Amino acid sequence: MTAGWVVKFNPPKVVNFKSPLTDQDDLDQQKASRATQKLAGSGVTLTPRDVSWDAWAAAHPDEERDLVLSCVDNNEARHAIQRTMPGVILSASTSGMRAQVVAFERRPGEACLRCRNPVEAIASDEVVISRLRAQDAATRARLAVDQGIHPDDLERYLNDPQKHCGLISGETLQRFGHGSGERAWSVGFVSVMAGVMLAAEYVRRSLGVPAHRLSGSGNLARFQFWFPDSSLNTTCHWPQAADCVCTRPSYRAAVAAHPWP
Ligand SMILES: [Zn+2]
Repeated sequence: MTAGWVVKFNPPKVVNFKSPLTDQDDLDQQKASRATQKLAGSGVTLTPRDVSWDAWAAAHPDEERDLVLSCVDNNEARHAIQRTMPGVILSASTSGMRAQVVAFERRPGEACLRCRNPVEAIASDEVVISRLRAQDAATRARLAVDQGIHPDDLERYLNDPQKHCGLISGETLQRFGHGSGERAWSVGFVSVMAGVMLAAEYVRRSLGVPAHRLSGSGNLARFQFWFPDSSLNTTCHWPQAADCVCTRPSYRAAVAAHPWP
C-alpha cells in the first residue's frame, strides 16, 4: 500500500506521546524521514519530504494533489493546504474531547478547508461573550458540550456574566474564542481517535466503498467523549462559510472548470 506524501513542518522539540512514530530518539530529527525509517518493511511505503508544505508545493506547482490527509494542528497550516487546491482533503482534528474527520471535496458549493477555520487573534472576553450570544441556542449547546460544560450553565453565564462568573472561568471562556478551539488543549486518546477515524475513511475510499464514505451533505463525522451517547455523535454536514473565498463567483467558476474527480 502506498501511503502517499509525508511532509513535515518542524523537527520535534519535545516527545509527542500522541504520535506512535515519535520517541525520545527523534528529538530534533526530521520527522518524515524518521517515520519512513521506522515503517520500512511494514508494507506501508512512504516517500518523505523534509520540507514545509508551502516549500514543497512551490517546487511542484503543476503536480495534481488528488487526496491530501490534513493532520495539522493550526489554521495557518490548513489554509496553506487549501491554497494548493487538492481534489479531496480528509481533515482530522480535535477540539477538547471531540474528534472529527471532514471530507472537503473540490466541487462548486462544497466547503473548503478554510471554511470555519479562521486565522484569528485571541479575542477579548467581551468579544467572546457577544459572539456566543449571537449564536443560536443549539449551536451554543454544542459548543458547551465540546468544552465539557453543561449547556444550562453556559446560558446562565451569558445572561449575567458578572453574577455567574464562577460558572465559567476566564481560561474556559477563551477556549470558546479560538473558533475551532484546536489550539486550546488536546488529549492524547482523543487525537488517537481522530487518527483512527481518518485512517478508516482513507481505507474506505481506497477500497472504493462509495456508499459509506464521507461526502456532500454527510461530509463530517465526529465523536466527543464527554457524553458518548449524545445525539451529537453522528455524521452531519460541514457547510460553506458565507464569508469564505470559496463562495466567490471567480472561485466557484474555477472549481467548476476543474471539479473533482
Ligand atoms: Zn471555504
